[in-house]
Amino acid sequence: MAYKQITVAGGGVLGSQIAYQTAFKGFDVCVYEIDDKALERAKKRIMDLKPRYQKDLGASEEEVHSAYDRITFTSDLSKAVAEADLLIEAIPEVVDIKTDFYTKLGKVAPAKTVFATNSSTLLPSQFADATGRPEKFLALHFANEIWKNNTAEIMKHQGTDMNVFQEVIQFAKAIGMVALPLYKEQPGYILNSLLVPFLSAAQSLLAKEVADVETIDKTWMIATGAPQGPFAILDVVGLKTAFNIALAQAEATGDPESKKVADLLKTEYIDKGKRGKETGEGFYTYPHPSFMHPDFLKSE
Ligand code: NAD
Repeated sequence: MAYKQITVAGGGVLGSQIAYQTAFKGFDVCVYEIDDKALERAKKRIMDLKPRYQKDLGASEEEVHSAYDRITFTSDLSKAVAEADLLIEAIPEVVDIKTDFYTKLGKVAPAKTVFATNSSTLLPSQFADATGRPEKFLALHFANEIWKNNTAEIMKHQGTDMNVFQEVIQFAKAIGMVALPLYKEQPGYILNSLLVPFLSAAQSLLAKEVADVETIDKTWMIATGAPQGPFAILDVVGLKTAFNIALAQAEATGDPESKKVADLLKTEYIDKGKRGKETGEGFYTYPHPSFMHPDFLKSE
Protein backbone atom coordinates (compact mmCIF):
# COMPACT_ATOMS: atom_id res chain seq x y z
CA MET A 1 0.00 0.00 0.00
CA ALA A 2 1.44 3.34 -1.10
CA TYR A 3 -0.11 5.27 1.80
CA LYS A 4 0.79 4.99 5.47
CA GLN A 5 -0.07 8.28 7.14
CA ILE A 6 -3.63 9.53 6.64
CA THR A 7 -5.06 12.89 7.68
CA VAL A 8 -8.80 13.44 8.00
CA ALA A 9 -9.98 17.06 7.89
CA GLY A 10 -13.22 17.53 9.82
CA GLY A 11 -14.15 15.27 12.73
CA GLY A 12 -17.93 15.54 12.34
CA VAL A 13 -20.40 12.73 11.59
CA LEU A 14 -18.50 11.31 8.64
CA GLY A 15 -14.96 12.50 9.43
CA SER A 16 -14.95 10.75 12.80
CA GLN A 17 -16.11 7.51 11.19
CA ILE A 18 -13.54 7.73 8.38
CA ALA A 19 -10.75 8.42 10.88
CA TYR A 20 -11.71 5.55 13.17
CA GLN A 21 -12.27 3.02 10.37
CA THR A 22 -8.88 3.91 8.86
CA ALA A 23 -7.13 3.54 12.24
CA PHE A 24 -9.04 0.31 12.90
CA LYS A 25 -7.47 -1.09 9.74
CA GLY A 26 -3.98 -0.27 11.02
CA PHE A 27 -3.15 3.15 9.50
CA ASP A 28 -1.78 6.08 11.47
CA VAL A 29 -4.38 8.84 11.39
CA CYS A 30 -4.35 12.52 12.24
CA VAL A 31 -7.66 14.37 12.70
CA TYR A 32 -7.65 18.08 11.84
CA GLU A 33 -10.38 20.37 13.18
CA ILE A 34 -10.91 24.14 13.25
CA ASP A 35 -10.27 24.62 16.98
CA ASP A 36 -9.77 22.79 20.27
CA LYS A 37 -13.48 22.73 21.11
CA ALA A 38 -14.24 21.03 17.81
CA LEU A 39 -11.39 18.60 18.49
CA GLU A 40 -12.95 17.64 21.82
CA ARG A 41 -16.26 16.97 20.08
CA ALA A 42 -14.46 14.86 17.48
CA LYS A 43 -12.71 12.83 20.20
CA LYS A 44 -16.04 12.10 21.87
CA ARG A 45 -17.61 11.06 18.57
CA ILE A 46 -14.75 8.69 17.89
CA MET A 47 -14.84 7.25 21.45
CA ASP A 48 -18.55 6.59 20.95
CA LEU A 49 -17.74 4.43 17.94
CA LYS A 50 -15.85 1.87 20.05
CA PRO A 51 -18.96 0.07 21.38
CA ARG A 52 -20.52 0.16 17.90
CA TYR A 53 -17.51 -1.70 16.48
CA GLN A 54 -17.69 -4.21 19.34
CA LYS A 55 -21.42 -4.79 18.88
CA ASP A 56 -21.65 -4.70 15.07
CA LEU A 57 -18.30 -6.22 14.10
CA GLY A 58 -17.46 -8.30 17.16
CA ALA A 59 -14.23 -6.31 17.65
CA SER A 60 -12.30 -7.00 20.86
CA GLU A 61 -11.53 -4.48 23.65
CA GLU A 62 -7.89 -4.53 22.60
CA GLU A 63 -8.77 -3.81 18.93
CA VAL A 64 -11.06 -0.89 19.63
CA HIS A 65 -8.60 0.74 22.05
CA SER A 66 -5.53 0.29 19.89
CA ALA A 67 -7.42 1.75 16.91
CA TYR A 68 -8.15 4.87 18.96
CA ASP A 69 -4.51 5.07 20.06
CA ARG A 70 -3.39 5.29 16.43
CA ILE A 71 -5.25 8.61 16.06
CA THR A 72 -3.69 11.99 16.85
CA PHE A 73 -5.56 15.31 16.93
CA THR A 74 -4.55 18.85 15.98
CA SER A 75 -6.00 22.21 14.98
CA ASP A 76 -2.74 23.22 13.24
CA LEU A 77 -3.16 22.52 9.52
CA SER A 78 0.58 22.51 8.72
CA LYS A 79 1.26 19.97 11.46
CA ALA A 80 -1.77 17.92 10.46
CA VAL A 81 -0.48 17.32 6.94
CA ALA A 82 3.29 17.44 7.48
CA GLU A 83 3.62 13.65 7.02
CA ALA A 84 0.37 12.89 5.18
CA ASP A 85 0.32 10.59 2.15
CA LEU A 86 -3.43 11.15 1.81
CA LEU A 87 -5.76 13.80 3.21
CA ILE A 88 -9.47 13.00 3.26
CA GLU A 89 -11.63 16.11 3.55
CA ALA A 90 -14.96 15.82 5.40
CA ILE A 91 -15.73 19.45 6.27
CA PRO A 92 -19.13 21.14 5.75
CA GLU A 93 -20.89 20.90 2.40
CA VAL A 94 -20.44 24.62 1.67
CA VAL A 95 -18.57 25.73 -1.46
CA ASP A 96 -16.86 28.75 0.17
CA ILE A 97 -15.69 26.77 3.20
CA LYS A 98 -14.23 24.02 1.05
CA THR A 99 -12.61 26.45 -1.44
CA ASP A 100 -10.97 28.38 1.39
CA PHE A 101 -9.79 25.14 3.00
CA TYR A 102 -8.21 23.78 -0.21
CA THR A 103 -6.50 27.09 -0.93
CA LYS A 104 -4.83 27.03 2.50
CA LEU A 105 -4.13 23.30 2.38
CA GLY A 106 -2.49 23.47 -1.04
CA LYS A 107 0.05 25.93 0.35
CA VAL A 108 1.10 23.94 3.43
CA ALA A 109 0.84 20.29 2.35
CA PRO A 110 3.95 18.47 1.10
CA ALA A 111 4.04 17.83 -2.66
CA LYS A 112 3.43 14.09 -2.16
CA THR A 113 0.06 14.50 -0.38
CA VAL A 114 -3.02 13.37 -2.31
CA PHE A 115 -6.29 15.17 -1.46
CA ALA A 116 -9.68 13.43 -1.53
CA THR A 117 -13.08 15.01 -0.89
CA ASN A 118 -15.93 13.14 0.77
CA SER A 119 -18.44 15.66 -0.61
CA SER A 120 -21.87 14.16 -1.38
CA THR A 121 -23.15 16.78 -3.80
CA LEU A 122 -20.23 18.97 -4.95
CA LEU A 123 -17.91 17.92 -7.77
CA PRO A 124 -14.11 17.72 -7.41
CA SER A 125 -13.62 19.94 -10.49
CA GLN A 126 -15.18 22.79 -8.46
CA PHE A 127 -12.13 22.76 -6.16
CA ALA A 128 -9.40 21.33 -8.41
CA ASP A 129 -7.82 24.74 -9.09
CA ALA A 130 -7.93 25.79 -5.44
CA THR A 131 -5.93 22.70 -4.44
CA GLY A 132 -3.00 23.77 -6.64
CA ARG A 133 -2.52 20.06 -7.49
CA PRO A 134 -5.49 18.98 -9.63
CA GLU A 135 -3.71 15.78 -10.71
CA LYS A 136 -3.56 14.65 -7.08
CA PHE A 137 -7.17 15.42 -6.25
CA LEU A 138 -10.35 13.35 -6.55
CA ALA A 139 -13.50 12.33 -4.65
CA LEU A 140 -13.61 9.47 -2.14
CA HIS A 141 -17.20 9.22 -0.95
CA PHE A 142 -18.29 7.11 1.98
CA ALA A 143 -21.74 6.23 3.32
CA ASN A 144 -22.92 6.98 6.85
CA GLU A 145 -22.10 4.14 9.30
CA ILE A 146 -19.05 3.30 7.21
CA TRP A 147 -18.16 0.17 9.20
CA LYS A 148 -21.45 -1.46 8.12
CA ASN A 149 -22.36 0.38 4.92
CA ASN A 150 -18.92 -0.09 3.44
CA THR A 151 -19.15 1.45 -0.01
CA ALA A 152 -16.48 3.85 -1.24
CA GLU A 153 -17.24 5.67 -4.47
CA ILE A 154 -13.94 6.87 -5.95
CA MET A 155 -14.50 9.51 -8.61
CA LYS A 156 -11.96 11.14 -10.93
CA HIS A 157 -12.29 14.57 -12.35
CA GLN A 158 -10.84 15.24 -15.78
CA GLY A 159 -7.42 16.22 -14.43
CA THR A 160 -6.91 13.40 -11.90
CA ASP A 161 -3.80 11.30 -12.56
CA MET A 162 -4.75 7.69 -13.34
CA ASN A 163 -2.09 6.34 -10.94
CA VAL A 164 -3.49 8.45 -8.11
CA PHE A 165 -6.97 7.13 -8.93
CA GLN A 166 -5.68 3.53 -8.74
CA GLU A 167 -3.81 4.19 -5.47
CA VAL A 168 -6.95 5.57 -3.82
CA ILE A 169 -8.92 2.53 -5.01
CA GLN A 170 -6.29 0.31 -3.32
CA PHE A 171 -6.46 2.44 -0.18
CA ALA A 172 -10.27 2.14 -0.03
CA LYS A 173 -9.94 -1.64 -0.21
CA ALA A 174 -7.24 -1.60 2.46
CA ILE A 175 -9.62 0.05 4.92
CA GLY A 176 -12.30 -2.56 4.32
CA MET A 177 -14.44 -0.79 1.73
CA VAL A 178 -15.94 -2.16 -1.44
CA ALA A 179 -14.29 0.20 -3.93
CA LEU A 180 -16.63 1.56 -6.63
CA PRO A 181 -14.64 3.46 -9.28
CA LEU A 182 -16.24 6.26 -11.34
CA TYR A 183 -14.11 7.20 -14.33
CA LYS A 184 -15.94 10.47 -14.98
CA GLU A 185 -17.53 13.12 -12.82
CA GLN A 186 -21.16 12.42 -12.09
CA PRO A 187 -23.35 14.48 -9.74
CA GLY A 188 -24.86 12.06 -7.20
CA TYR A 189 -22.20 9.43 -7.96
CA ILE A 190 -23.66 6.02 -8.95
CA LEU A 191 -26.12 5.42 -6.13
CA ASN A 192 -28.05 8.68 -6.24
CA SER A 193 -27.92 8.81 -10.05
CA LEU A 194 -29.99 5.61 -9.93
CA LEU A 195 -31.99 6.12 -6.77
CA VAL A 196 -33.21 9.71 -7.08
CA PRO A 197 -34.95 9.28 -10.49
CA PHE A 198 -36.34 5.89 -9.41
CA LEU A 199 -37.86 7.30 -6.23
CA SER A 200 -39.13 10.40 -8.07
CA ALA A 201 -40.93 8.20 -10.61
CA ALA A 202 -42.67 6.27 -7.83
CA GLN A 203 -43.74 9.46 -6.06
CA SER A 204 -45.08 10.88 -9.33
CA LEU A 205 -47.26 7.81 -9.86
CA LEU A 206 -48.68 8.33 -6.37
CA ALA A 207 -49.16 12.12 -6.70
CA LYS A 208 -50.96 11.65 -10.05
CA GLU A 209 -53.19 9.04 -8.37
CA VAL A 210 -52.20 6.40 -10.93
CA ALA A 211 -51.79 3.75 -8.21
CA ASP A 212 -51.46 3.47 -4.43
CA VAL A 213 -48.32 2.97 -2.33
CA GLU A 214 -48.70 -0.77 -1.81
CA THR A 215 -49.52 -1.52 -5.45
CA ILE A 216 -46.47 0.39 -6.68
CA ASP A 217 -44.15 -1.36 -4.21
CA LYS A 218 -45.70 -4.77 -4.93
CA THR A 219 -45.17 -4.29 -8.67
CA TRP A 220 -41.50 -3.55 -8.17
CA MET A 221 -40.93 -6.34 -5.67
CA ILE A 222 -42.64 -9.09 -7.66
CA ALA A 223 -41.28 -8.05 -11.04
CA THR A 224 -37.65 -7.62 -9.97
CA GLY A 225 -37.34 -9.81 -6.88
CA ALA A 226 -36.22 -6.78 -4.85
CA PRO A 227 -36.82 -7.07 -1.07
CA GLN A 228 -38.32 -3.55 -0.88
CA GLY A 229 -40.21 -1.19 -3.15
CA PRO A 230 -39.59 2.54 -3.60
CA PHE A 231 -41.90 3.65 -0.77
CA ALA A 232 -40.25 1.32 1.73
CA ILE A 233 -36.91 2.85 0.67
CA LEU A 234 -38.35 6.37 1.02
CA ASP A 235 -39.38 5.57 4.59
CA VAL A 236 -35.72 4.82 5.38
CA VAL A 237 -34.40 7.90 3.54
CA GLY A 238 -36.91 10.05 5.44
CA LEU A 239 -39.82 11.99 3.97
CA LYS A 240 -38.31 15.36 4.86
CA THR A 241 -35.30 14.61 2.65
CA ALA A 242 -37.65 13.40 -0.13
CA PHE A 243 -39.64 16.64 0.26
CA ASN A 244 -36.48 18.78 0.04
CA ILE A 245 -35.41 17.00 -3.15
CA ALA A 246 -38.87 17.34 -4.76
CA LEU A 247 -39.06 21.02 -3.80
CA ALA A 248 -35.56 21.74 -5.15
CA GLN A 249 -36.49 19.99 -8.40
CA ALA A 250 -39.74 21.96 -8.65
CA GLU A 251 -37.92 25.25 -8.05
CA ALA A 252 -35.07 24.46 -10.45
CA THR A 253 -37.21 23.19 -13.34
CA GLY A 254 -40.68 24.69 -12.72
CA ASP A 255 -41.93 21.13 -13.20
CA PRO A 256 -45.58 20.94 -11.92
CA GLU A 257 -45.27 17.20 -11.19
CA SER A 258 -42.42 17.75 -8.71
CA LYS A 259 -44.48 20.49 -7.06
CA LYS A 260 -47.42 18.08 -6.76
CA VAL A 261 -45.12 15.50 -5.11
CA ALA A 262 -43.74 18.09 -2.67
CA ASP A 263 -47.26 19.25 -1.74
CA LEU A 264 -48.45 15.68 -1.21
CA LEU A 265 -45.48 14.80 1.01
CA LYS A 266 -46.03 17.90 3.10
CA THR A 267 -49.79 17.87 3.60
CA GLU A 268 -50.47 14.14 3.80
CA TYR A 269 -47.36 12.95 5.60
CA ILE A 270 -44.89 15.44 7.09
CA ASP A 271 -47.53 17.77 8.61
CA LYS A 272 -49.18 14.71 10.18
CA GLY A 273 -45.90 13.61 11.80
CA LYS A 274 -45.38 10.77 9.32
CA ARG A 275 -41.73 11.36 8.49
CA GLY A 276 -40.59 7.82 7.81
CA LYS A 277 -39.29 4.77 9.63
CA GLU A 278 -37.43 6.81 12.26
CA THR A 279 -40.72 8.31 13.52
CA GLY A 280 -42.58 4.97 13.42
CA GLU A 281 -44.72 5.98 10.44
CA GLY A 282 -44.25 7.18 6.89
CA PHE A 283 -45.81 5.44 3.92
CA TYR A 284 -45.91 2.35 6.14
CA THR A 285 -46.37 1.83 9.89
CA TYR A 286 -43.45 0.34 11.88
CA PRO A 287 -42.19 -1.97 13.32
CA HIS A 288 -44.46 -4.29 11.29
CA PRO A 289 -44.96 -2.64 7.88
CA SER A 290 -47.41 -4.43 5.57
CA PHE A 291 -44.78 -5.00 2.88
CA MET A 292 -43.01 -7.40 5.23
CA HIS A 293 -46.12 -9.49 5.79
CA PRO A 294 -45.71 -13.00 4.28
CA ASP A 295 -48.92 -12.54 2.26
CA PHE A 296 -48.00 -9.14 0.82
CA LEU A 297 -46.81 -10.52 -2.50
CA LYS A 298 -49.53 -13.16 -2.87
CA SER A 299 -52.62 -12.64 -4.99
CA GLU A 300 -55.77 -12.17 -2.95
P1 NAD B 1 -20.55 17.63 10.04
O1 NAD B 1 -21.18 18.96 10.10
O2 NAD B 1 -21.02 16.55 10.97
O3 NAD B 1 -18.98 17.77 10.26
C1 NAD B 1 -18.19 18.77 9.68
C2 NAD B 1 -16.99 19.03 10.57
O4 NAD B 1 -16.09 19.88 9.90
C3 NAD B 1 -17.35 19.68 11.90
O5 NAD B 1 -16.81 18.91 12.95
C4 NAD B 1 -16.68 21.07 11.82
O6 NAD B 1 -16.18 21.52 13.05
C5 NAD B 1 -15.57 20.80 10.84
N1 NAD B 1 -15.10 21.98 10.10
C6 NAD B 1 -15.77 23.07 9.73
N2 NAD B 1 -14.98 23.89 9.01
C7 NAD B 1 -13.77 23.31 8.95
C8 NAD B 1 -12.53 23.66 8.38
N3 NAD B 1 -12.38 24.77 7.69
N4 NAD B 1 -11.49 22.80 8.53
C9 NAD B 1 -11.65 21.64 9.22
N5 NAD B 1 -12.79 21.26 9.79
C10 NAD B 1 -13.85 22.08 9.64
O7 NAD B 1 -20.69 17.16 8.52
P2 NAD B 1 -20.69 15.67 7.92
O8 NAD B 1 -22.08 15.15 7.88
O9 NAD B 1 -19.62 14.87 8.56
O10 NAD B 1 -20.29 15.99 6.40
C11 NAD B 1 -18.99 16.31 6.03
C12 NAD B 1 -18.80 16.01 4.56
O11 NAD B 1 -19.09 14.63 4.34
C13 NAD B 1 -19.73 16.80 3.63
O12 NAD B 1 -19.02 17.14 2.47
C14 NAD B 1 -20.85 15.81 3.33
O13 NAD B 1 -21.43 16.03 2.05
C15 NAD B 1 -20.10 14.50 3.34
N6 NAD B 1 -20.92 13.31 3.60
C16 NAD B 1 -21.81 13.27 4.65
C17 NAD B 1 -22.57 12.13 4.86
C18 NAD B 1 -23.57 12.03 6.01
O14 NAD B 1 -24.38 11.10 6.01
N7 NAD B 1 -23.51 12.91 7.00
C19 NAD B 1 -22.42 11.01 4.02
C20 NAD B 1 -21.47 11.06 2.99
C21 NAD B 1 -20.74 12.22 2.78
